[in-house]
Amino acid sequence: EYKLGNIQEIHQGDLIFSERQKKFAYAKSNSLPEYCKKCPYLQLCWGDCPKDRFLKTPEGEVGLHYLCSGLKKFFHTATTSKSEIAKRLQPH
Ligand code: SF4
Repeated sequence: EYKLGNIQEIHQGDLIFSERQKKFAYAKSNSLPEYCKKCPYLQLCWGDCPKDRFLKTPEGEVGLHYLCSGLKKFFHTATTSKSEIAKRLQPH
């Protein structure tokens, strides 16, 4: 069902840029709930994998990733700590 083709017969580049693969790739952003589109971490997360988006948003829209609350905590910690991490990685 998900097979795009055989890499011994079709170059991987042709498979990656095939219409079917492009449609699949854009479906990831096209199917985002409004809740994700307004999320401050959208550029880092993009709603994560569509197969795992089986929760409803607080507004009742379907398609929210089941790890959303944890993802938000992770992105918050990672983005607020990045200057400290960069500082500690500087050679002394
Ligand atoms: S952190 Fe949650 S709300 Fe934000 S983009 Fe990811 S899944 Fe959507």
